[in-house]
Amino acid sequence: MTQEEKREYDRKWREANREKVRQQARDWRAANPEKRRDHIRKWQTANLEEKREYDRKRYAANRNLILARVRERQAANRDEKREYDRKRHEANPEIARERARDWRIAHLERSRERVRQWEAANPERAFQNARKWRAANRDEINERLRRWFASNPEKVRQHKRNRHARSVGAPGAHTAQDIQALWDAQDGRCAACHTALHKTGKQTRHVDHIIPLFQGGTNWPDNLQLLCPRCNRAKGFLLPEEWAKRLALAVKANAVQPPAGAP
Ligand SMILES: [Zn+2]
Repeated sequence: MTQEEKREYDRKWREANREKVRQQARDWRAANPEKRRDHIRKWQTANLEEKREYDRKRYAANRNLILARVRERQAANRDEKREYDRKRHEANPEIARERARDWRIAHLERSRERVRQWEAANPERAFQNARKWRAANRDEINERLRRWFASNPEKVRQHKRNRHARSVGAPGAHTAQDIQALWDAQDGRCAACHTALHKTGKQTRHVDHIIPLFQGGTNWPDNLQLLCPRCNRAKGFLLPEEWAKRLALAVKANAVQPPAGAP
């Protein structure tokens, strides 16, 4: 029998005994799991591209099944995984912290969501943690607040006005943008004497409640006006009409300069 003939003969025999061949292969695989794994690894290393293509196809065809299995395995080994993580963390706290930090930076939104969930589930501990953090970073926090207050004077004043209005039960609120809108509408001048106002410093504009809060005025933007410090002090808590009368008397007595455009 030539080589060629032998090959042909084997092929025919395998074709005729397909079930037997398959059974033999199955038996061999069952009896030699180590050798089989070795075989597969060797083939995969030698045929990386084909292996990848095979994986891609298998994954595409069995995506849901594979994902379900992964989830199942993770769920079954959750405690093991946690224990493993804990030990690794204990052995290398620095590296673990660094990894956790990298993860948070790479997954900001998910990280924030996790924190929110944890805080919602552990309000008491979250409160204690926040207090500890504030105590440990007091200087930095104060410095940051000081910088913010210094660079946002109008927001600070607006916040104080709103808080004061709430504390006396007056309705309404306004924003720093509302104050800017007033500034634009008054062309940066005092609503009473029309002197030019300043945004900062000793001569800074005063935000005045036209009808004082304790006289029933609201804290809405339409009850606000910008006055120079002098006019604001002169007006005090007077109603607009009372102030107008006072101004008229003052002008008559020549005690103050006639304020142009006073109400
Ligand atoms: Zn004025």
